[in-house]
Amino acid sequence: MTNENEQAEADITSQNDNPLHIVHELMKDSVQSLGYSDNVFRVLEKPLRLIEVSMRIRMNDGSIKNFTGYRSQHLDIFGPTKGGIRFHPSVTRDEVKALSIWMSLKSAILGLPLGGGKGGIIVNPEELTSEELEDLSRAYIRKLTPVIGPQKDIPAPDVNTNPEVMGWMMDEYDQLRGYNIPGMLTGKPLILGGSAGRLAATGRGVVLTIREAADVLNMDLSTSTAAIQGFGNVGSMTAKYLAELDVTVVAISEASGAIYQEDGIDIHELLEFIESGGVIGDYDKAEQLDPEEIFGLEVDIFIPAALENQITEKTAGQMQAKIVAEAANGPTTPAGDKVLEDKDVFVIPDILCNAGGVTVSYFEWVQNEMNYYWSEEDIHNKLEERMVDGFHNVLHMRNEKSTRMRQAAYMVGVAHIAEGLSARGWVK
Ligand code: GLU
Repeated sequence: MTNENEQAEADITSQNDNPLHIVHELMKDSVQSLGYSDNVFRVLEKPLRLIEVSMRIRMNDGSIKNFTGYRSQHLDIFGPTKGGIRFHPSVTRDEVKALSIWMSLKSAILGLPLGGGKGGIIVNPEELTSEELEDLSRAYIRKLTPVIGPQKDIPAPDVNTNPEVMGWMMDEYDQLRGYNIPGMLTGKPLILGGSAGRLAATGRGVVLTIREAADVLNMDLSTSTAAIQGFGNVGSMTAKYLAELDVTVVAISEASGAIYQEDGIDIHELLEFIESGGVIGDYDKAEQLDPEEIFGLEVDIFIPAALENQITEKTAGQMQAKIVAEAANGPTTPAGDKVLEDKDVFVIPDILCNAGGVTVSYFEWVQNEMNYYWSEEDIHNKLEERMVDGFHNVLHMRNEKSTRMRQAAYMVGVAHIAEGLSARGWVK
């Protein structure tokens, strides 16, 4: 094969796995299946705004470095745009745009009065000191201040960002505006107006959808096993709540390594180990595995909780699970999805599975706006109600259209947005 051919082939692969291309194809498909005009797709295909900012940061050694960041604001017909900010070296414009579209669909599926937004900075946070990271977080907010706010666009945590980063960002915004505006972002520390239950929300939501899926499949969770790929906030909270439902979590992987224990990993002990600064790759109370091996394990439930494009034709081919619960955004490539479909795996698609995070973010924003706070129990109950409703709306669509959960989730989201567009006179 010539180099040119190789390049052409690589371009096709990367195009197929480009999250923006993937979300476009799935939306086009659902617009058609629902019998809507192309106009619905025309509104959905592009974000309202994509902002690129560069941040000049003085590093601790005195040198100056430039960082690039983005914010995509997709749709504002139901309310402000909303979605997290990720810090990752592989952030791209297309990724941020796709992630913002996914946020619009999540909010639409759960019936939240919000649209989608997403931000990202191209950075490996492990290479920065805490001070440098704080400077970068503040600089990003300084650049975005004119276009974000509680009625415009509301950021939140995502990959490699957390309540501490949200605290810095909120502080910077408040200093520029001159007063305390807690509803300008969510996922804040509790002391600054964060919501009870927000940190656990995505994982809790994932497990609620697994519970509902197990019910559909007549699976007994107390005799089921699970493997989790990724052990950040979402992966770890998912493990915790799965263990509470007596699911045996036999394997967990992350970048540093993977662990396996046939009779179940003691999640409580592992979480303590991680909290005290440990990494999975150094955990010696379970067998160490090659992270790649996690895909082929004999488990009932597989949970991707890391980045995009992890379940490929190859890794899906190795998979033995009955349920794939997509805790991450966009973890499955179209080729991987086809393999899961052929194997008749019950996929709980990302835009439903991980929507618990934005749901409790919505509750956080509501509490900030009224300056009155609910108990953790209230939050859990409200989250459960929304997630169970969302799951059954998607399941109903799947049954009605004789399709798969992923297509059904897109249809529920697209139908909700199309109804909003029609009420605004955009589509007839
Ligand atoms: N980053 C999360 C997501 O992808 C949460 C977004 C939010 O809470 O606004 O859904």
